[in-house]
Amino acid sequence: MAETDIVCTSPIDGRELVRRPIMSEAAIGAALSAAREAQGKWRHVPLAERAAKVLAMLDALVAMNQEVVPEIAQQMGRPVRYGGEFRGVEERARYMVRIAEESLKDIPAADPKDGFRRMIKREPVGLVLVVAPWNYPYLTAINTIAPALMAGNAVLLKHASQTILAGERFQMAADRAGLPKGLFQNLVLSHDQTSRILGEGLVDHCNFTGSVSGGKAIERAAAGSFTSLGLELGGKDPAYVRADANIENAIENLVDGAFFNSGQCCCGIERIYVHESHYDRFVEGAVGLVNKYVLGNPLDEATTLGPMAHKRFADLVRQQNAEAVAKGAKAHIDAKRFAADVGNTAYLAPQVLTNVDHSMSVMREESFGPTVGIMKVKNDEEAIRLMNDSPYGLSAAIWTSDIEAAEAIGDKLETGTVFMNRCDYLDPALAWTGVKDTGRGASLSKLAYESLTRPKSFHLRQI
Ligand code: NAP
Repeated sequence: MAETDIVCTSPIDGRELVRRPIMSEAAIGAALSAAREAQGKWRHVPLAERAAKVLAMLDALVAMNQEVVPEIAQQMGRPVRYGGEFRGVEERARYMVRIAEESLKDIPAADPKDGFRRMIKREPVGLVLVVAPWNYPYLTAINTIAPALMAGNAVLLKHASQTILAGERFQMAADRAGLPKGLFQNLVLSHDQTSRILGEGLVDHCNFTGSVSGGKAIERAAAGSFTSLGLELGGKDPAYVRADANIENAIENLVDGAFFNSGQCCCGIERIYVHESHYDRFVEGAVGLVNKYVLGNPLDEATTLGPMAHKRFADLVRQQNAEAVAKGAKAHIDAKRFAADVGNTAYLAPQVLTNVDHSMSVMREESFGPTVGIMKVKNDEEAIRLMNDSPYGLSAAIWTSDIEAAEAIGDKLETGTVFMNRCDYLDPALAWTGVKDTGRGASLSKLAYESLTRPKSFHLRQI
């Protein structure tokens, strides 16, 4: 990306919504110096004072909710009726603040020895670069911003072009909360500038949330700089509806898990495997619910399904659906019921596909859109084999009434999170992580503090 401006085009009407110039090299240099200086002092600020500032920043953010909800709709298309992201943002940030003291405390040596003081302290890594995606512009960024600041780091945020205003909102919140100058900075960067910052080792850790191709580019850019990386990338999350499942509950929750946010959730359900005893009812129930969505302008209260964030994302899903149908899949939803889908914009009718198999890209590659494939399975073994037949592994959901079976199946799944009777949710007390092409590292939970700090060992001998 060699352009000098970052442009956000609204999916509502395809018109330019915001344009911002990328930063000059001098401004980037100044931002990095200011961050280093601020971090040098912040790391010595007592934890309780850090917590007060981070919570004040959170409060300032939450106070903007009324303006933020329509702004999200305009930037990436999520309907205003869902009320934004700040409930989850608060839940996660407050949890990470609450566990900071316990997570950051010294770790004494497990075998105390007379005459020695031996322990591991946790020091902040220094400068943390957060590269954020547009699909949940506040929820994804807060996962790292809150614990990174609590751990004594400075944070530089590079937000997605599609949600460039979310970066500015974070900056406003930091300023209103009176965070020390330079400690939190929103940067407007091109890909090349981000790569250069990483390649030259100008930050100490980068948390990247986004696509697999973006993650690969970030890993290449950081190669040889010894900058540590947290990579939270794409997914193709499966669900399995067992014979002993509460079928109506499964239908309702899995349709929501697949279509909420027009399917643009990292842990959205993209593949469903249903036990043969429930298959017909499940397909009938899912199709019935999906037909009830109201596709339209996300600023309209009646809209339950907004446009995708950009026409190019809708075109990818159109291609996947068409390829699946050409290979023999059955498309259950008649797009004509969704008048807003005129075939060449970001507005895309939802789709439910059966007669699908794993030769089709809709069952293998991330769709990140309002489409889902459903397959019939005979037993747990077949479901496990199919769920694992994927280059990704973020979450997997099992619908069953048998908690022991869910855990046993979960042990065999190649995934970051196993859900039973729920999906598409991040529990701040648990590590958010992925396997295979979905990434490396962990955010949220106590484990998040490990990547945002470095250990320092003290081996002190009294003589
Ligand atoms: P993306 O295109 O990879 O972009 C993510 C962020 O990285 C944006 O800020 C983007 O900037 C930047 N970026 C992309 N390529 C870059 C490069 N070569 N060099 C430097 N910066 C680069 O992803 P997205 O479309 O925004 O987000 C959707 C993807 O995120 C999906 O694949 C989804 O599964 C994944 N995701 C994963 C999780 C998780 O927890 N695992 C959570 C949320 C989303 P620009 O916007 O300026 O291009």
